[in-house]
Parts: sequence; structure tokens; C-alpha cells
Amino acid sequence: MIKAIDAHVHLDMYTESAAQTMLAELSECQIEALIAVSRHLASCKTTDRFRELAPQRVFAAYGFHPEQELPSEDQLNDLMSWIREHVSTMIAVGEIGLPYYMRLEAQAEGHVFELAPYVALLESFLKLAADTAKPVVLHAVYEDADIVCDLLQKHGIKKAHFHWFKGSPSTVKRMVQAGYFISITPDVLYEEEIRTLVRSYPIRLLMVETDGPWPFVGPFEGQETHPRMIHAIIQQIALLHELSVEEAALTILNNTKQFYGIPTPC
Ligand SMILES: [Zn+2]
Repeated sequence: MIKAIDAHVHLDMYTESAAQTMLAELSECQIEALIAVSRHLASCKTTDRFRELAPQRVFAAYGFHPEQELPSEDQLNDLMSWIREHVSTMIAVGEIGLPYYMRLEAQAEGHVFELAPYVALLESFLKLAADTAKPVVLHAVYEDADIVCDLLQKHGIKKAHFHWFKGSPSTVKRMVQAGYFISITPDVLYEEEIRTLVRSYPIRLLMVETDGPWPFVGPFEGQETHPRMIHAIIQQIALLHELSVEEAALTILNNTKQFYGIPTPC
């Protein structure tokens, strides 16, 4: 079996023992590496600790997840200075983006939702990525992806990975033209929307991820999300693109390594 990389996982959201067990199992599960993303300063520190434990396998992204309350000015300054001190161990800036689901929920409850401060926060991370020449890991779905495409252009950022992307055909067209990557989660096994997306997105711009510990249903119902699940995602992508599993696996592995600059282990 060709090895694979889980291109988006929240190691810090597992229990300590579950994360340790997972790291110990990667080799037997044919998982070459993980891109471990972070949500805030404490999360960055935990991600970094796991990176130190397994530096050949855990590649750390540092950022502030958009689906939460905004940080205070002090919190943001602390986070930014911590990241700048840890640039040498940072593979990408992320997870960053816009709060699509939080906004939907607020609006459904009849509240006004101010997006502008989230856009400003995102721009400060895009500036950081541009300054440090790092790729960005984005949480931006549907109409938010269009806003983010504009911002990426504005900040001259070309290396963008939209994780668990969902969006309209016109957004897809724009993202493909710009050469932005997306990653596919286990829901490609049971969500028609995602299967349609995979068919329309070139394999040269695809990665695979679990977004673990986020739970999945369908064939994964009741299982704790684990990077080993990504082999099933690759099989589905192979079917949808009418490729052999080996060809799909190798292309996706190379896409991820090239995007993140991950060396092949010796
Ligand atoms: Zn995530």
C-alpha cells in the first residue's frame, strides 16, 4: 500500500493518550505524516509539543480557528509573537479563515453577525503568511471562499489549502484557475455534494484529511476519527476520477509533499 499524509488533523483535540497512541500507530497504518493544525495559542503549544515528539511525522501549522469568539488584542498579540518566535518549526499558517457556521447559527437565531472583525483578523494572518513565505490552511466554505480568494489575491498568496472545502461551481472554477488546493474528508464516502466536487476538481490539486477528531457517519459511524481512514478516501477519489488506487494515492501524496515541502523520509 502506498503511504499517505493526513493533510489536516487537530492533534490537540484528542486526549493525550489517544494522540500518543495514534502517533505510535502511524507507521503500521501506512501514514507517512500529519499536518497538525492549531486553533489558538494553547493549541499551538500543544501541537508544537506533539511535533517535538515525532518531528519526522508531525508537521505543525499555527493559527487561530475562525469558528470561535474573536481574540482580545492582548491574546492576538501574544499569539502572533509566539508564532513569529516559532516560524522555524511552522510548516504553514493555519487553521485560519472565516466563521461560516457560527454566522449561520447567529443569523438563524435572529442575531446580527459582524463579519468585518473576522476579515480583519484573517488579513493579519495572511500578512504573516506573506511575510514568512508560508502556505495557508483555510477554513472557508461557500460564499466565504470567494471573499478569501479576493484576500489571497490582495496579499499575493499563491499557496492556499482550503480544507474540507464546499462551494458553488463558479467558486470551484475560480479556485482551480488560481491553483488552490482542497482536501477531502471521509464524508466523500457518503455525501453526494462532496462526490460531485471531487469529480469536478483536478486530482493534481487534491489532498486528503480527517479533520480529526471530528466524527464521521456512514461507514465510519461510531468510530473515533483516525488518520488510517484516509486510505478509504483515496480509494473513493480513485473511483471518482477513474484512476487506479496506486495512481491516485501517489498523486495525492506528491501533491501534499510538494505543497507543504515535506521531505521523503529516508
Ligand atoms: Zn480543522
